[in-house]
Amino acid sequence: MIAVAQVAVPAPLPQWFDYLPPVGGTLPPVGSRVLVPFGKRRLVALVAGHAEVAESAALRSIEQTLDAGLIRPELMQLGRWAMRYYGSAPGEMVNLLLPPALRRLKSFRPAAPQWLSLTAAGRAAEARRAPRQAEVLGWLAEAPLERAELLDRGASAGVLRALLNKGWIVAGDAGAPRPPQPGPALNAEQRAALAALLRARHQSASFLLAGVTGSGKTEVYLQAARALVRRGRQVLILIPEIGLTPQLIRRVESRLGFPAHVYHSDRSESERLACWQAAADGRARVLVGTRSAVFLPLARPGLIVVDEEHDASFKQQDGARYHGRDVAVMRAHLLGIPVLLGSATPSLESLNNVEQGRYRLLQIRRRAGTAEPPTWSLADLRGQRGALESGLLASMRRHLDAGGQVLLYRNRRGYAPVLMCPACGWQADCLRCDAHLTLHQSVQRLQCHHCGATRKAPPRCPDCGEPDLLALGAGTERLEQDLKQQFADVPVHRVDRDSMSRRDEFARLLEEVRRGDPCILVGTQMLAKGHHLPGVTLAAVLDVDQALFSADFRAPERLGQAVCQVAGRAGRGDRPGQFVLQSRHPDHPLLEQLRRAEYLSFAACLLEERRAAGLPPSSALALLRAEAHQAESVRAFLEAAAKLMQHDEIEVSGPIPAILARRGGYWRYQLWLQSGFRGPLLAALPAWLDNLRSLPHARRVRWHLDMDPLEI
Ligand SMILES: [Zn+2]
Ligand SMILES: [Zn+2]
Repeated sequence: MIAVAQVAVPAPLPQWFDYLPPVGGTLPPVGSRVLVPFGKRRLVALVAGHAEVAESAALRSIEQTLDAGLIRPELMQLGRWAMRYYGSAPGEMVNLLLPPALRRLKSFRPAAPQWLSLTAAGRAAEARRAPRQAEVLGWLAEAPLERAELLDRGASAGVLRALLNKGWIVAGDAGAPRPPQPGPALNAEQRAALAALLRARHQSASFLLAGVTGSGKTEVYLQAARALVRRGRQVLILIPEIGLTPQLIRRVESRLGFPAHVYHSDRSESERLACWQAAADGRARVLVGTRSAVFLPLARPGLIVVDEEHDASFKQQDGARYHGRDVAVMRAHLLGIPVLLGSATPSLESLNNVEQGRYRLLQIRRRAGTAEPPTWSLADLRGQRGALESGLLASMRRHLDAGGQVLLYRNRRGYAPVLMCPACGWQADCLRCDAHLTLHQSVQRLQCHHCGATRKAPPRCPDCGEPDLLALGAGTERLEQDLKQQFADVPVHRVDRDSMSRRDEFARLLEEVRRGDPCILVGTQMLAKGHHLPGVTLAAVLDVDQALFSADFRAPERLGQAVCQVAGRAGRGDRPGQFVLQSRHPDHPLLEQLRRAEYLSFAACLLEERRAAGLPPSSALALLRAEAHQAESVRAFLEAAAKLMQHDEIEVSGPIPAILARRGGYWRYQLWLQSGFRGPLLAALPAWLDNLRSLPHARRVRWHLDMDPLEI
């Protein structure tokens, strides 16, 4: 027998690979970054374990140990757990645990973070003619900032270069730490939440902080972070969306007196490496990042916070399909530290964990400061020509005239979701998906929002030649156009993926909106995500009806979350807010419930319904998804797979067509594997997945397992 390293190689294959120690060297410890020959390639890989195997001529040697023991045992354990739990290829561990720069063959040095600050000339300068330069000067007047942070806030590299050339700003170090600013006084519920959290600082404990929108959850995170940093601990804060980082790190900086380190995919590889190293050696005291940051090394871990824990962006949709929130909970458990999940609209999963006694509930029922919850009304769309009905227009006018801002949420981008011929009934459909094409009028194109296919909008009906085609329904583009006509005197800003294709545009817009002048914001869910816009006094969700009748069992939960989040944008400042919800089914029980109750009792009803139906989170669910150009192959594969799963405690249903049964020319089906408890599912899946690979159709279809799926 001979000692080998079991190596996780970044390849989509279901196993570790055995390697001998480097020639003339010793076996690198678990967690080492190594260079290995793999087929004809050389790859950077991770040592995941050690084993003894029979000697064989086929064994190859590790070419070089690059960093011995780079990844701590705790993270290796987390990585192995995640691979097993989510049924992922072991090689995915390399992608999760190493930042991109460390996955390369070429050695890489992180750039030292570049700090920019105002010079005396910069302080005196007036850049009235160059508003973008003036904006940067304004930010730097408060404190020196990292170059990457300025880019995050929407400054362009060109603007920074211009300011450097003028001698108005200089690059250097961060300068002396600034005294932390005292935050607002906490109210009794905030104080109780903070105290409970700090009492648990030496143990693994999971908390759900459910605080109504505008209740000052962030203030609780920040004060907890301050207390733990003072005791020499690190705090990791996960957020769902890159767009939320500037807002948060500005607050970290003002409350704690030092900057947060930021980790997300828009940062350059060298910036990410710098952050990763600062986390690993403990220099980074507060880390802020999106889901991949849950795998950052921590030298002195003290607390993990998951903000907006209900947000679906925490779930990765390809490769290792992990859920950042759930990995955070497991990680805190392995580290023996507390984890705090925060949301105004917690997921049913987390509420179920509270009921089961796994999480402790901390509640904040009142808004912070003097802000009151917005008043609600349900607008009946029956008999109205469209979302911009007279009642809403009148309310908007009133709020704008009073100096308020208006936020309209519509979960549809483009001009119109359907283009049809009134003469023969033809509709513009995607040739490769079961879906209508959306008309984007500004570019005169039809676009499929599922596969991305686009074509020119036809000038007349391709079937009968009718020249006057009908655009049905209204997306954000059409609403923006109509609003600009109705409200010529105020700016109308559209916020969706088309109008805000560059993230800095969104950051800049938010800056502008926070200055508080009356304006109208109309947009998709980008708008509903946790942004603090104190000037908004009227918020509305336009036409929710599609979500009321969805086949997705999670649709009511998502609807409730979107509605409460949008409502929560209104009246966060010192003026009272109003919220309007539009529907053609104002008597629908879900809307009635939402209107009458606050979110937690609404969610309790949904949880009861899920339980009655045996759906997650009252049961564990995994999907085996498969797709191919021939529906027949997909069904045959899944039928064979279903036969292989013989387990008393696992119920197998399907093949069931996905909600969008054909996408991009692929037929999509799935098997549902359900069990009352997670245990049997986790125990049975690895061997089953292994067996699937030898099924006759396994190579003809694309397939993967999705544990705890969010989409069906
Ligand atoms: Zn026609
Ligand atoms: Zn399509």
